[in-house]
Amino acid sequence: MAEAHGQDQTGSASVSTFKALILDQQDGKVTASSGTRRLDELPPGDVLVRVAHSTLNYKDGMILGGIGRLVRSYPHIPGVDFAGTVEESTDPRFEPGDAVVLTGWRVGETRWGGYAERARVKADWLVKLPRGMSTRQAMAVGTAGFTAMLAIEALERQGLAAGAGDVLVTGAAGGVGSVAITLLSALGHRAIASTGRPEARDYLLSLGAADIVARASLEAAPTKPLDTERWAGAIDAVGGTTLATVLTQLRYGASVAAVGLAGGSDLRATVLPFLLRGVNLLGIDSVMCPAGPRARAWERLARTLKMDRLDAMTAVIGLADLPEYGRRILAGQTRGRVVVELGK
Ligand code: NDP
Repeated sequence: MAEAHGQDQTGSASVSTFKALILDQQDGKVTASSGTRRLDELPPGDVLVRVAHSTLNYKDGMILGGIGRLVRSYPHIPGVDFAGTVEESTDPRFEPGDAVVLTGWRVGETRWGGYAERARVKADWLVKLPRGMSTRQAMAVGTAGFTAMLAIEALERQGLAAGAGDVLVTGAAGGVGSVAITLLSALGHRAIASTGRPEARDYLLSLGAADIVARASLEAAPTKPLDTERWAGAIDAVGGTTLATVLTQLRYGASVAAVGLAGGSDLRATVLPFLLRGVNLLGIDSVMCPAGPRARAWERLARTLKMDRLDAMTAVIGLADLPEYGRRILAGQTRGRVVVELGK
């Protein structure tokens, strides 16, 4: 897809336009369509980026479906992540031609995002693409993969080290889960994948999972405050009764990083695992993660991730496919990561 140069409706000066997926709201219903917008309609910012790739996260699915009141103003261009090349910059840290990645900062929610050939944002929000990582690979990582890395770093800060024992990942066949399994395995951990999809077994083993547990074994509400100690650490993308169960099964002093709510946002638990086993519940937020740790996490992702495994977990779609894939991710029917190619 290429930008167009032409005349606006008043017949004055030539205007550059770009293609985008545009959300509109009518009678409370959100609809998506492909369209064009003018560069001067983009929100203010220091850096104009030519977007090469974006991606589909769970939150994008919510925004595409008009769920959760994440977007308050329409028409809206969604897409919480993007990677591309700087086209214009008024900030000395960025020059035309620099490859950059953006995740979070509520881009794609409170302002126009990455499902477009152009995005304009604050320079403070951008990270230079780590050497050796392409824009497509950066979006195969995306918010989901970046969050998986933040979760592992949080567990490490609490003392998790390779060889400590089984590290559970829930929602394992999803985006956060798939990258978490790949990273944990590359870092020498025994990653145990919890999935509700038995057919994902071979896929998860190929990413480096040491074993699989059935989602059903964790998702029933715990019947006792302390269960058998099983996990040296855990990354939970599911929340709800699953997180409550994980808390009862953590080993003495171990931690669970709470990342998501694919199974629910309630948490009904007792304080006994905290008081009697000294376990930790760690909150993970990728959206407002400060610039320093953000850049370091991206560098570590580039060093640690096995790119053949990243490719194996990634499907590539175009802008027009997004509404359908948005429905699928909310239904737990996408596997691994979905990259959006702007030229597709
Ligand atoms: P995906 O949809 O790709 O993965 C979620 C996975 O959870 C599914 O693949 C499925 O895994 C499992 N799942 C889905 N529905 C249910 C259910 N009803 N009960 C139990 N398990 C279920 O989403 P992402 O990986 O992109 O995101 C996962 C979660 O993390 C989301 O809630 C998202 O909002 C959150 N998130 C939070 C971030 C943060 O900064 N804290 C950043 C990124 C994401 P399987 O089939 O293997 O069981």
